[in-house]
Amino acid sequence: MLSKYHNISQLDRTLRILLGVGLLYLGFVRGRGLDAYVMSDIALGLAGFAIVIAATLKVCPAYLMLRRSTYKAAKTNNIQTYQEVITNSDNNRNLIKKLQLSIVIPTTIVIVIFSLFIFDLNHKLVMQKITKNAEVASDIIQTFFINPAQHSDANDSKQSVDTAGLIVEDSIAGVELLLHHDQSGQLLPLRFEKGVKNQALLSAALNKAAEFDQSTQNNVRDMIAVNEQSYVISSTRVEGSDAWLTSVVKSPATHGMFELLISSKFVVNVLLVLLMGLWSSSYIINSFITKADENAEMLHYLATHDALTKLPNRRLINTIVQDKIDQIDATTQCVTLYKVDVVGFRDINDTLGTTLGDELLVKLSDRLKTIEPDKTDVVRMGADVFCLVCTHEKDQNQTQAIANSLHEQLEANLSLNGVPIVVQARLGISTFPDHSSEPEELVRFANIALAQAKNQNSATCYYHNDFDTHSVRKLTLLARLSSAIENDELTLVYQPKLDLKQSQIVGVEVLVRWHDAEYGHISPFEFVNWAEKSGLINNLTHWVLIAAEKQCALWQAQGCKLPFAINLSPTNLYDRELVPLVTRLLATGSFSTSPLELELTEDAVMEDPEKALQTMTLLSNLGVTFAIDDFGTGHSSFAYLQKFPVKNLKIDRAFIKDIDQNDHDAVLARSMINLGHELDCVVTGEGVEDIESLEKLQSFGCDHIQGYYISKPLTADDFMRWYEEGQFLPKIAA
Ligand code: C2E
Ligand code: CA
Ligand code: CA
Repeated sequence: MLSKYHNISQLDRTLRILLGVGLLYLGFVRGRGLDAYVMSDIALGLAGFAIVIAATLKVCPAYLMLRRSTYKAAKTNNIQTYQEVITNSDNNRNLIKKLQLSIVIPTTIVIVIFSLFIFDLNHKLVMQKITKNAEVASDIIQTFFINPAQHSDANDSKQSVDTAGLIVEDSIAGVELLLHHDQSGQLLPLRFEKGVKNQALLSAALNKAAEFDQSTQNNVRDMIAVNEQSYVISSTRVEGSDAWLTSVVKSPATHGMFELLISSKFVVNVLLVLLMGLWSSSYIINSFITKADENAEMLHYLATHDALTKLPNRRLINTIVQDKIDQIDATTQCVTLYKVDVVGFRDINDTLGTTLGDELLVKLSDRLKTIEPDKTDVVRMGADVFCLVCTHEKDQNQTQAIANSLHEQLEANLSLNGVPIVVQARLGISTFPDHSSEPEELVRFANIALAQAKNQNSATCYYHNDFDTHSVRKLTLLARLSSAIENDELTLVYQPKLDLKQSQIVGVEVLVRWHDAEYGHISPFEFVNWAEKSGLINNLTHWVLIAAEKQCALWQAQGCKLPFAINLSPTNLYDRELVPLVTRLLATGSFSTSPLELELTEDAVMEDPEKALQTMTLLSNLGVTFAIDDFGTGHSSFAYLQKFPVKNLKIDRAFIKDIDQNDHDAVLARSMINLGHELDCVVTGEGVEDIESLEKLQSFGCDHIQGYYISKPLTADDFMRWYEEGQFLPKIAA
């Protein structure tokens, strides 16, 4: 459609240029194209000039104004402004039409006034020329006819008459006839010009001249009208003789002002100039506005669409949702938002590279585009987050059925560069009219439901009002966690491990802390969990490893070489950067002299035992040891655990808490300690809060303990003070 317009406008422009050049030729080159007046020539020439300029140069204040507003919109990348440019273009057109009229009409009035003035001037000039001409003619005739003897070229008198006639004709274009009196006093035409083949004119002129003959005046001037044309008759007495020379000149100024104003030629010329002005300026303005519209539309598209998947981006989501809401019959239909997050996309991106990551997103978006029902809109909300907006019958089963098919589509087999990829998707669902009629709120609710789905580790989650208050805090914090990691806003605390047999501190467990300016202390249970679900966990673990290594180096410098135990999350086992990072820290840093232990839960190991074994083997080859954290709470088989390079079993706090009162717990704890020893592991009792529990564990042969009874987790400085003061020793002695 656009190219069609383009062709038409090109044709139009070509026609205008041709017309403009034509008028230029008539006005300035040929002259007197349509009339004998100078003004018309100038007006035509100017009109032609204006048309050519208009058709070739795109210069117009209105256009520049529009262009400036479009570029301003582009600069601020503000879709609101693009929208304004587009929706306002009709207003702009009207405004510009007014502008155009306000320019063209005054210009025309000025041209008319100017032309009247020029006309008057022109008339005077012509009259002057006529008089002059009559004098010239009189001179010539006197020289060649009346006193030929006085003239050196008298012999060639016939020739001279012709020449004189020609000179007269050329010097003023209006001369048509010269008459003179012969010797007998008869009035004879001296020279006929083309136009005076008119007998009526001739006889009228002769009669008129005869009247002058009687007169004593020189240069008598009068008008005669023949066939509606006016002529000026002027008579000159030939000096030194009785002879008279009479000339008849076609008059350019026989009309009065009023006649001029209503004369058809003048009106036609004025109209012509007016039309040219309107046509060319309307053409420029329309084409400029269209161009500006196109620019704005293009910029609007770029600002509201994603370059990779060509899907609308988040800026359009509210409009899309609102449109759907407006279109449906809310009594029978609903609009459902499915917010989709691809779990672990970051890892795929990190491991396979961004090119394949992009390819994956394109493939996924292609799948999303084919989702039923037909008129489902897909929006790319962010890196790996999409939002589907669809209209369907009001029926929970249908909402769920769409969610299921979405899930199936997304998780169906897929390969990138021959590598099979497992995609996991989480869906948050919100719907109009059930949850809200505000697009913005619906998007927010879908977001909250998505976060909930991730937390519950379930495929889909339908929004419920109860989620909201909790989720706002969570979403805000989740967003802040990433920057907290990047900006070193997290801190570490250290909890000592005590060797029950040697009565000495044999290591510290490193635990991460986060204090948010608004929400205060956030439990690591909470944010570590979010980090795992949101893909931030690798960054978090990297940060902890690096920060712990720095602390370890500081303590070593003070002569303290305690082993460090650092917690790993299940996802860390798939992190390709983990092994290189640990290798670097071991090779160059303080961990080379302070043994490093990594704690993993049973479930982390059992999730994908082969992958876990692979990563753990690589790390233990570097000298890292492994502890099974929270032992007893997960689902592992002892036989299986034997295969892993595990040196430490940490019995979960749940079994220790009531160990001195609850026989069942005591039996379990004891058998876990024995089992650990069977597996050649050191056994650590976690969460020891009192001396009774300590003694019980001691009696069961437990190797190490950890818990508030020894010390709460301490900041680095507090820990060092505590450690140097040896405050733990009396506790053991007791
Ligand atoms: P965890 O690895 O089991 O860490 C021990 C938790 O028990 C710590 O809670 C510690 O403060 C608490 N604790 C220690 N002794 C006692 C006691 O005598 N009584 C009671 N009631 N609690 C005790 P914290 O620091 O809140 O950490 C909670 C969990 O957060 C950790 O459990 C661990 O799973 C996770 N976490 C903490 N730091 C990190 C980290 O750097 N990376 C990862 N991946 N996870 C971490
Ligand atoms: Ca731990
Ligand atoms: Ca633990």
